[in-house]
Amino acid sequence: MKIHAIAVTLLAMSFSLSAQTMPAGADTTLWQKALSIHKRAIVVDGHNDIVSPMTDDDFDLGTSSLGKIHATDGTPYHSDLQRFKASGLTGEFFSIYVGGDTWKAGKAMPRAIDMIDATYRQIESHPQQLTLCTTAGEIRSAKKRGKMCVLMGIEGGYAIEDSLSALREFYRLGVRYMTLTHNVTHNWADAHHDTAKNNGLSAFGKDVVREMNRLGMFIDISHVSEKVMNDVLDVSTAPVIASHSGARALNDHTRNISDDVLRRVAKNGGVVMVNFYPSFLDARTNKEENDRSARLKPQIDALKAQYKDDIKGYNVAEAKLLAENPIYITSYTRIVDHIDHIKQIAGIDHVGLGSDFDGVPFLPAGMNGAEDLALVTYEMLRRGYSETDIRKVLGENLLRAMSEMERIAGSRQISGQGSQVRYKPVSQK
Ligand SMILES: [Zn+2]
Repeated sequence: MKIHAIAVTLLAMSFSLSAQTMPAGADTTLWQKALSIHKRAIVVDGHNDIVSPMTDDDFDLGTSSLGKIHATDGTPYHSDLQRFKASGLTGEFFSIYVGGDTWKAGKAMPRAIDMIDATYRQIESHPQQLTLCTTAGEIRSAKKRGKMCVLMGIEGGYAIEDSLSALREFYRLGVRYMTLTHNVTHNWADAHHDTAKNNGLSAFGKDVVREMNRLGMFIDISHVSEKVMNDVLDVSTAPVIASHSGARALNDHTRNISDDVLRRVAKNGGVVMVNFYPSFLDARTNKEENDRSARLKPQIDALKAQYKDDIKGYNVAEAKLLAENPIYITSYTRIVDHIDHIKQIAGIDHVGLGSDFDGVPFLPAGMNGAEDLALVTYEMLRRGYSETDIRKVLGENLLRAMSEMERIAGSRQISGQGSQVRYKPVSQK
């Protein structure tokens, strides 16, 4: 019996993709074909916020996260090692997320260091499953070795605290993209939904972009203002990415990318990686979510007061209240509507996936977590995408852009020709 149980477990592991739930009403043959394409492909996702609970709650990726919520902010878990295995992911960008509040509190750089440390700790704890990757070549090699690449991207340029030296140190630690802002404008770049203080990117902001080009770190234009997107595209000599943004034409949200910028990203050789958050994908979901927040504000405020010293209790109570007040949640097929649109405007070579797993309060209908990633492959196949085009969206576009970025960066002298502008001690300012 014991041997039988082990054999069954091994079988379950090696066919883990088949364990995914087939979408309701799906064609079985097409579903199987989608799974086999997905399994062969290099799959890279642009954005995952699992590092937040890894850092704040010591979440271990080896434990099951099914049905659990992040203790500190109530976000449902979408990731763990088993779910990553089922996802078919070859590479996942772990988000080193530093928000505007952390920056205002003067903790931006140490926060980023804590999150990078938590990331390294998980890679070291699970060497059979995970490996740190910093180049396109390493992603291809990990696929052959059956390991998942952990890549790192800093979300929020606050982390470098206006220091190009810090930027270089983050590169040395393995960070390969930086989202220039999160939701708050800072000293050198304006955020998508905040006061414009820099008229886009300041002169120093342009130096940051040039230094990122020189190092070989992607400039991520998710979260920034449209002016910053255009300024980046004026300055950058290497492909840029939007690590987790959709098409603004399908939902007029400032977190999405306009057709004008999509055309410019195509010329630049970059990739727009579609966010799965239903409120970014779909105007109706966005409106109903906003209306619900306004309607439930008195109850939410009451819960905040009631659970003032019990964040866990608050999160459970809030989740219950929201579940009692459901809204329309768009389907996972809406992700492919955005892929279709970006393909139509920018071309098939400039679109990818940027799930935002573990960073959003809910996922599209039909999708529970990273384990359901092949649904996107199925929907592309159902709409007539060729295997070549599906593989471009799943990961090949990102790898092409990354190789090109590495080629442009060229020199491995990280400090060599970099700007030596330094911070002066406060007393000397
Ligand atoms: Zn984000």
